[in-house]
Amino acid sequence: MADVLAALREAVGPEHVLTGADCASYERDWRGRQPGRALAVVRPRHTQEVAAVVRQCAAHGTPIVPQGGNTGLAMASTPDTSGTAVVLSLTRMHRLRALDAANLTMTLEAGCVLQQAQRWAAEANLLLPLSLASEGSCTIGGNLATNAGGTQVLRFGNARDLCLGLEVVTAQGQVWHGLTGLRKDNTGYDLRHLMVGSEGTLGIITAATLKLYPMPAARLTAWARVPSVTAAVALLGMAQRRLDAALTGFEMMGQQALALTARQLPQLHIPFNGKGPYAVLLEVSDAHAEARARQGLEDTLQEALEAEHASDVVIAQNLQQAQAMWHVRESIPLAQAQEGLNIKHDIALPVSQLAAFVQHTDTALQRAVPGARLVNFGHLGDGNLHYNVQAPEGGDAAAFLHAHEGAINALVYEAVAAHGGSFSAEHGVGRQKAASLQQYKDGTALGMMHAIKQALDPHNLLNPGAVLRANAT
Ligand SMILES: Cc1cc2nc3c(=O)[nH]c(=O)nc-3n(C[C@H](O)[C@H](O)[C@H](O)COP(=O)(O)OP(=O)(O)OC[C@H]3O[C@@H](n4cnc5c(N)ncnc54)[C@H](O)[C@@H]3O)c2cc1C
Repeated sequence: MADVLAALREAVGPEHVLTGADCASYERDWRGRQPGRALAVVRPRHTQEVAAVVRQCAAHGTPIVPQGGNTGLAMASTPDTSGTAVVLSLTRMHRLRALDAANLTMTLEAGCVLQQAQRWAAEANLLLPLSLASEGSCTIGGNLATNAGGTQVLRFGNARDLCLGLEVVTAQGQVWHGLTGLRKDNTGYDLRHLMVGSEGTLGIITAATLKLYPMPAARLTAWARVPSVTAAVALLGMAQRRLDAALTGFEMMGQQALALTARQLPQLHIPFNGKGPYAVLLEVSDAHAEARARQGLEDTLQEALEAEHASDVVIAQNLQQAQAMWHVRESIPLAQAQEGLNIKHDIALPVSQLAAFVQHTDTALQRAVPGARLVNFGHLGDGNLHYNVQAPEGGDAAAFLHAHEGAINALVYEAVAAHGGSFSAEHGVGRQKAASLQQYKDGTALGMMHAIKQALDPHNLLNPGAVLRANAT
């Protein structure tokens, strides 16, 4: 153990190898569930330092947990409790290497915070269309390692769809120089897509080349009160027909989600005081002018009112109002965390199945755990719900989780499978859902995943226990 620490100090400098109490904030995940214990936290500054760290860890058989902003919600960015793993923090690697306006690309180091990347793009009047509530802390490396989604997937896709090239340190400590800005490159297996979404289990992303888009000339945001999930889905269909690619965001929030946000964050202004079973937030963008976007949005909302798919609508009149609406939506996870521990389900369903799923599962949960609060919100346009379950009001959250988490997860995930969905839409599998992967993933696919892991990381040193369980095929 002393040997590996000495070697790591040699590789990155002693001040960038943290031990003991200095590791605390790297050992605890955003939700504060089950803190781990690290042998050390290592903070390299350059790709070659990352490679040196990995080589030393490989030589000593020391597991590595890559970490970016530590905002992940699947328990994959923090170590287990063994005290044997090194946390490899990429946050000192945060430079913009290049911005190619003609090629509409930017190349960034993995530890760059997403919001800073968005700002660099905006300074060139370009858009990096990846947007998450955690964007002030999460990093490009973490976004790619989790294949992050967020609020603009409907129009621009997940982090995967924005990634053209990668630089990666392999489990053997070699560097793969794959930072291409090409939109076409059919030269064999696309390793980029193996790395994206691999949650630090196949390689360490040290830099990436991402797609950029022209900055839209206009963005409009609207809020509507809707009577049901069925109505929200109908409104989504209307918006897609009328607005097509101009529709860049479509979020849904349930009454419980807004109620606890109002209670925990009373300074927020929630349109219509959060009343009504559901609310939706629409965002429309236009590359050239506001008038066309406004007309399309107004026509959509009018049609929704006439069809009784919406009962009240409001269009933000300025940037401040638009930001306030988005702020409500993006504050829900924080409000929920402040309300107490809860059982999170980040699920994806075909949009056509959303209403049936919610109706079936709401009823089954109320029957199984009377009084439990169903905090349902999410990126409806992508069929992605954060279908969370919170203890009854005033109840003991920890005791609720202890008593019901297993049964509630089983009930929700069985319903997800029955409706053709996925138990992990955008947060990943991590350590938290490794057992669910085992249960719900197609057996042949699981076998191929194990074969890939074995080929790239035969000694299981990269984030062991995350995504795949050792010895389980
Ligand atoms: C309030 C809040 C809102 C959120 N909203 C969304 C949302 O809308 N959509 C969404 O998709 N997610 C969301 N998340 C989850 C989280 O922000 C994303 O998963 C994000 O992409 C994680 O980035 P990070 O830098 O914090 O990664 P970390 O949490 O540090 O790590 C996440 C995973 O990536 C691996 N990893 C990190 N960096 C690297 C690297 N350089 N190379 C290889 N592996 C690496 C880690 O080992 C771990 O497996 C939210 C989280 C919070 C707290």
